[in-house]
Amino acid sequence: MSAVDWATIHSRPLVSVPGCWRVCNGFCCANNHPDMRFRLIPGGGKGTTVIYLEDEYQWLKANGHVICGEEKGGEIQLLSFDFGGPRPIQFRTAPCALMGQCNDICTKPLLCRTYPFLPVFGCDGEIEELLPASILDATLTLKEGRDPCPLAKDQALFLKALESEPELSRALRHPYLILVSQAVKAFMTSYQSRLKAWDGFNSLSGTAFWQGWEMQYLGRRLVDREAVAAHLRHIHADLSKRFGDVLA
Ligand code: SF4
Ligand code: SF4
Repeated sequence: MSAVDWATIHSRPLVSVPGCWRVCNGFCCANNHPDMRFRLIPGGGKGTTVIYLEDEYQWLKANGHVICGEEKGGEIQLLSFDFGGPRPIQFRTAPCALMGQCNDICTKPLLCRTYPFLPVFGCDGEIEELLPASILDATLTLKEGRDPCPLAKDQALFLKALESEPELSRALRHPYLILVSQAVKAFMTSYQSRLKAWDGFNSLSGTAFWQGWEMQYLGRRLVDREAVAAHLRHIHADLSKRFGDVLA
């Protein structure tokens, strides 16, 4: 199978509304919610966490600039999810304190390009839904009933960006990216249900809520990993029938 066309994906801004930070103070890059005072996760107006797919990270290390000081030999944390397929799905995560000033310093990860949306593609390449692009956004929406990013209400923004960029749209429908998007969908489905079932969801508020949430989330108590793995095995089998093994 051909590799993901990262060159096309990273040559386009995707969702981009000039000056949008003026109306929201740049929540996406600063996590500047007054109650988000975490012990370990970046937040409280000082920055956020960026996520790369491992394949994307390796491509960017060779062709762009990732946030890890790789020129000086830096490496960032590798996370692996073994769902029982031929190889695990792997991600990199890194704190980003650039507060939106990343142009000419690093190459924005795909997730920063699609923010505030994370598209989920079906095995046929059709968009199934647009999820929130970050776990903090998804949590705020459930807890406070509002989107932290004002652009999130305008899903047409993302759909129009894809319509006007057929090459980019094709690149995003690569079977590997379909598989990853389905991993996020299964993760989010399980997460939303467990979050609402967690005692602290209703009983805690303000900073106590977010600090309690941080422990639950980092302690991996808010996602049923086996449910995510089962969904992925099913999707991987379907994609493999259509396209050959996406993870070979
Ligand atoms: S949170 Fe949304 S509106 Fe605010 S800067 Fe980020 S993308 Fe723009
Ligand atoms: S890489 Fe850029 S867009 Fe992404 S979180 Fe950092 S400053 Fe924001």
